[in-house]
Amino acid sequence: MTTVIDGNSVASDIRSEITDCVETLEDSGVNPGLATVLMSDDPASETYVSMKQQDCEEVGIESHHVEIDPDAPAAELFDTIDDLNDDPAVDGILVQLPVPDHVDKREVIRAIDPAKDVDGFHPENVGRLVAGDARFKPCTPHGVQKLLEAYDIETEGADAVIVGRSDIVGKPLANLLIQKAPLGNATTTVCHSRTDDLAAYTETADIVIAAAGVTEFIGGSMLSEDATVIDVGINRVDADNEKGYQLVGDVDYESAEPVVDAITPVPGGVGPMTRAMLLYNTVKGASEAHGVDIELP
Ligand code: NDP
Repeated sequence: MTTVIDGNSVASDIRSEITDCVETLEDSGVNPGLATVLMSDDPASETYVSMKQQDCEEVGIESHHVEIDPDAPAAELFDTIDDLNDDPAVDGILVQLPVPDHVDKREVIRAIDPAKDVDGFHPENVGRLVAGDARFKPCTPHGVQKLLEAYDIETEGADAVIVGRSDIVGKPLANLLIQKAPLGNATTTVCHSRTDDLAAYTETADIVIAAAGVTEFIGGSMLSEDATVIDVGINRVDADNEKGYQLVGDVDYESAEPVVDAITPVPGGVGPMTRAMLLYNTVKGASEAHGVDIELP
């Protein structure tokens, strides 16, 4: 029997523990706050931001939201970030990406105070993660680790194959899995679009993590019967429903599920974990900024 890894359930447990963390902080007079900044009129970005605000509300984190006209000069965004860096009510800052073309994304990431960089993308935080002293683990890779932990999937000594080498998923996840630390110690291979014969890597792996953004391209024939498959991919495909589309992963679930040992569905796998780990980073930031001890999940 294949285990279906239930991200909604694991994320819900984590959110409930985060609610306790918020209460502990409040008992010490600290109201944790997350600022979201949106400089886009892309409906998907708007939805992501509003989901993050809703998540904050649910666990008691105060959410601060700033919207900037996508045609405004870049300076307006940088001034906003400066203000949020200085605002003691804000413990985490999230600038929803992508930003418009006239704004340099790298500069935006560097402008955020690393102590409030709850995405974990600032070079200081990337460096700390690589050095094994992470302050904020990026939300999706951290969520993947937490899913593996929740289902007792051993990473130590496992052959892990990550498909995708982006700065937000593949690279930080590889850095986490190779750490000489709990939830690490995996022998990790990172594949990408120039990998010759992807199947040669995936079919022998104990853990396959798909984060390529290519619709259902990893099928059951590319996976072993002992494999745990974590599907990070979120791809829209046309569907005959009210929305006109549905979300599918990078893994062809129909052919993979009967073959492998454990698998995440899409939706309901990694997505809810990413959202939960943003809340985790926000309360962690608040705890460190105000010197209040909390018991993180
Ligand atoms: P990027 O587009 O930044 O990176 C994709 C990576 O996949 C690249 O390294 C690319 O290689 C590699 N790749 C592309 N095609 C292939 C292929 N045919 N074979 C092997 N490797 C390939 O994407 P992201 O990392 O931002 O996101 C990946 C997916 O995860 C997307 O579907 C995204 O929507 C989803 N996502 C889901 C989240 C969640 O919470 N569930 C959170 C974040 C992302 P190369 O470097 O050579 O171009």
